[in-house]
Amino acid sequence: MCADGNGCVLGIDIGGTKIAVAAVDAGGEMLVEGEFPSPSRDGDAMVEAFGSLIGREFDRYREKGLDVRAVGIAAAGYILQGEGILLESPNIAWRMVPLRQIAVEVTGLPAFLDNDANGAAAGERFVGAARGVDDFVYLTLGTGVGGGVYVGGKPLRGHRGMGAELGHIVIDPNGPVCGCGHRGCLEVFASGTALGREAAGVVAGDTDSVLLEMAGGEAGRITGKMVSRAAERGDRAALRAYEIWSGYLGMGIVDLIHIFDPELVVLGGGVSESGHLFIDSVRRAVSERGIASLVEGVRIVLSELGNEAGVVGAAGLAWEGIRERVL
Ligand SMILES: [Zn+2]
Repeated sequence: MCADGNGCVLGIDIGGTKIAVAAVDAGGEMLVEGEFPSPSRDGDAMVEAFGSLIGREFDRYREKGLDVRAVGIAAAGYILQGEGILLESPNIAWRMVPLRQIAVEVTGLPAFLDNDANGAAAGERFVGAARGVDDFVYLTLGTGVGGGVYVGGKPLRGHRGMGAELGHIVIDPNGPVCGCGHRGCLEVFASGTALGREAAGVVAGDTDSVLLEMAGGEAGRITGKMVSRAAERGDRAALRAYEIWSGYLGMGIVDLIHIFDPELVVLGGGVSESGHLFIDSVRRAVSERGIASLVEGVRIVLSELGNEAGVVGAAGLAWEGIRERVL
């Protein structure tokens, strides 16, 4: 176990519905894994569940003979990096939780904490699409849009550790209201939810679309997943919705390329699972809207981690943290 002599780390991915835990070796191999429900509506129960779960899993892994060296935690929410504190989460009723300290006290190991999108970006660099790449931008496209940025081989965190909230760059100041309370963020144009909304708009002028049938006749019920299924069947309205949506996503990516000059842009999250339906449109939108000298040659690719992005990303944070300490 942890056969290469480098030991392994405990990766913990905390979401609104589940907490995923895995022991991951230096090559990104998951040796043991488990999933547990999140008591996300009760903040105290959530803190309790987190602490006891780490303790239990850590003991279990050690009993199996695993040489666990560190803990990496990726959590949905805003993180105060210096203090190792989770400030708040969008889907979990807890605030100001010293997650890093809890992990250190329970295991006696070094622990590293970041938000889920930064964790996923660390995972892509660890064993995914950004292996060996020092400068890249990562976007996770799901219910919302999250981001992570690496500059010169290091994650960009900002003054308090809350940087790289790429989902909230503004695409249209008069656009729909975002979950953050402001209007027209990239998130309201490039999330899975947004894909469903674009399709609802297109369907109004194309009533032959299978999307209406899928949504029980109500355009407002069209989801991103339905659009993906319809597009696979060649549905014209669904393909058009992808095109509009890709244009907005491309707009956001152009801004990010102009700012960060990355070698690579990685698209992850649930929507990227149907990436073959939109990756070419996104690349086209970027080359049409960007400054040619800046966007030419920047590779835009899909995540290679899929469902395991969260927990592998958390492990990536731990491996990255260990290496930073050694250097
Ligand atoms: Zn926003």
